[in-house]
Amino acid sequence: MFQEINMNFDIEEVRAGFPILKKKINGYPLAYFDSAASAQRPLNVIKAENSFYQNRYAAVHRGIHSLSTQATSAMEKVRYQIKSYLNANFSEEIIFVKGTTEAINLIANSWGGSQLKRGDNIIITVMEHHSNIVPWQIIAERTGAYVNVLSVMQNGELDLDKLEKIINDRTRLLAVTHVSNVLGTINPIKDIVNEAKKAGIVTVIDGAQAIMHQIVDVQDIGCDFYVFSGHKMYGPNGIGVLYGRKELLEIMPPWEGGGSMINKVVLPTGTTFNQIPWRFEAGTPNTGGIIGLGAAISYIKSLGLHNIHEYENMLINYALTELNSIPNIIIYGPKVRTGVIAFNLGKYHAYDVGCFLDKYGIAIRTGHHCAMPLMQHYEVPAMCRASFAFYNTIEEINRLVTALKRINYLLDSIDK
Ligand code: PLP
Repeated sequence: MFQEINMNFDIEEVRAGFPILKKKINGYPLAYFDSAASAQRPLNVIKAENSFYQNRYAAVHRGIHSLSTQATSAMEKVRYQIKSYLNANFSEEIIFVKGTTEAINLIANSWGGSQLKRGDNIIITVMEHHSNIVPWQIIAERTGAYVNVLSVMQNGELDLDKLEKIINDRTRLLAVTHVSNVLGTINPIKDIVNEAKKAGIVTVIDGAQAIMHQIVDVQDIGCDFYVFSGHKMYGPNGIGVLYGRKELLEIMPPWEGGGSMINKVVLPTGTTFNQIPWRFEAGTPNTGGIIGLGAAISYIKSLGLHNIHEYENMLINYALTELNSIPNIIIYGPKVRTGVIAFNLGKYHAYDVGCFLDKYGIAIRTGHHCAMPLMQHYEVPAMCRASFAFYNTIEEINRLVTALKRINYLLDSIDK
């Protein structure tokens, strides 16, 4: 069936590059709709990591022997690759972190800890992932600043008319997601950043759910910080990126101390720190992860983000139409979206639905999706979330819809 769709890549060939997709779960072929949590990795990422461990692995930055130099240059090459992928101005603006969560904690602690004063405020939104909420709450508590919240409308879009009203002369930072991990809402990030910039507010964009679906140009967006994780873009887990504008990074103090981030260590005091980006990379980095991330970016580029976007768009629109044919389904979020569809089957709990789907080999996400404030907004304890990647097929979507119809029937009959 999916052959009928005009595609710029061969889906069977793409899928062959992801060995895990051949797995059977509970006797059924795996239909993996949980890529927004962690995307599967193609063979070339697995092989790149493997080859690094087999041929070039050693501790980076500190050795003068050949392997260490090779590992260091392989790692630094990926930094350049990411710089150009994001269209950043300088490679020093790319900092390797564990993931989105660590990146936001770094900004909150370093920038927030040094710049926020009692009475200042930080704006976040109701649709943020916990990792773009809790670090701001913690740093606000510590500095005497407070958190202001931009609301979400019932259609799943940010209530941007209110943004101007909640910005005041003590607003110092705005942290917002590029794409909602629950609703798939694509926020008009450039307009939001522009609005913030007019008021001299620092902007932090959580790109965890955007980076794998669309081209991200940090200079065009104009943001101060942009953060994302490797494991959501077909790369390894335990590795992520913090892009920060050079002028800001340069005034930020270190947040973790240790090896690599120092210039000279003096006792009892007087230690001086390395230049950026290494000032923010204390300790031995996850070099294998960095190499894998580089391979993931090369892989995405080889498919072409435009092709990925077009194919995923077709999948998600098809899924929306088909899911809407299920009588008691409630679908959350706007019509125009990327990556995910969150829904509930009437009154039935998301966990029950997710468990039944697993019996048919279909993997979706269930729960609060690390977005409890959004669950409260919609007055539900949990949602089901199917997320879509370029390796999914129309046939898998048909299986999901058929299974949901069966589950509905089953739960209805138990209920009677
Ligand atoms: N932000 C968003 C929008 C996410 O979807 C996620 C993960 O689901 C995160 C942040 C946290 O990412 P990580 O767990 O890789 O740090």
